[in-house]
Amino acid sequence: MSTAPQLIFIKLLLITVLGLRNTRTNDGRFSCEEEDEQLKNMLKRLNTIVEYAKEKDVRVMVDAEQTYFQPAISRIVIEMMRKFNKEKAIVFNTYQTYLKVLLYVPTIKILAIGNTMSIKFIDQFKSRFRFIKERKFQFGAKLVRGAYMEQERERAASVGYEDPINADYHATTDMYHACLEEVFYQIKQRPLGQIAVMVASHNEDTVRFAVEGMDRHDIKKSDRLICFGQLLGMCDQISFPLGQAGYSVYKYVPYGPVEEVLPYLSRRAMENKGILKKVQKEKSLLWKELKRRVKAGQLRYNPLENSTVG
Ligand SMILES: Cc1cc2nc3c(=O)[nH]c(=O)nc-3n(C[C@H](O)[C@H](O)[C@H](O)COP(=O)(O)OP(=O)(O)OC[C@H]3O[C@@H](n4cnc5c(N)ncnc54)[C@H](O)[C@@H]3O)c2cc1C
Repeated sequence: MSTAPQLIFIKLLLITVLGLRNTRTNDGRFSCEEEDEQLKNMLKRLNTIVEYAKEKDVRVMVDAEQTYFQPAISRIVIEMMRKFNKEKAIVFNTYQTYLKVLLYVPTIKILAIGNTMSIKFIDQFKSRFRFIKERKFQFGAKLVRGAYMEQERERAASVGYEDPINADYHATTDMYHACLEEVFYQIKQRPLGQIAVMVASHNEDTVRFAVEGMDRHDIKKSDRLICFGQLLGMCDQISFPLGQAGYSVYKYVPYGPVEEVLPYLSRRAMENKGILKKVQKEKSLLWKELKRRVKAGQLRYNPLENSTVG
């Protein structure tokens, strides 16, 4: 992983977002006027989206992508948080716990020394809370395991740098749960409402871990500080009982042109073959429920009526 393109991108970002003087780089890719213009347009569009979301009081969760994009994405998201998360968390960044190192760079200084596997993900995650507290804005985070494991490993092997992904599944799960523990701890250290987190997972054990953690730390469902997210059409057996029990639950709706949405969904299925097993489980649960309703004469029963899924 080379730091140079990231540095160049961030320089450009500082010029655009913070209005610093334009310094031409030696790298033609980022110094050409057209690309400067594209970046500015992208920032303007993002700004319009978040302004509108704020007006409507809805949250904007920015997805995390591959390691070679993520520092730039996180850098932009932090600027958006700085601007829009003053009273409450409108903008959420995404944290991928399959990473050995958190590829988020709050300052150029950290970027310059930070591209090393010796810094622990969990320590970096903890430092995010200090960072936002010092700058007086609210923390919004979506926690995921991470969707690009195979692609990341293949690229690391072909380019010849250290695999950025944890050694095994358990390490990723341990990191996910350690981050959640930190979230619970931090929530209790501050006035209510300064931290909002989405547990974006289809894993029943992780959802159970989050629910039990909320209980242990006396974090109320009604506070809506922790919410849950699953993709539309997947793991309804997790979303619906959570919603019915009063937790805040979101279904992620992949939206866009067919030629972009289908590859997105097929990537999810390829990168996470476990989902297919979960779909089987869901199908068998649906059959069970259908039989139960036929027997109980409840064909018109609507589980959504008493739930808070939304
Ligand atoms: C609402 C929502 C939003 C999402 N947004 C994003 C996003 O912005 N960015 C993103 O990257 N992903 C995103 N995802 C996808 C997510 O990262 C996971 O790929 C997917 O949810 C599967 O993880 P799980 O916790 O649901 O299930 P599980 O089946 O428990 O976990 C599977 C995941 O574990 C990890 N894993 C598996 N094997 C290994 C191994 N050998 N070593 C290390 N780790 C391993 C991988 O991350 C794999 O995807 C999102 C998912 C949801 C539900």
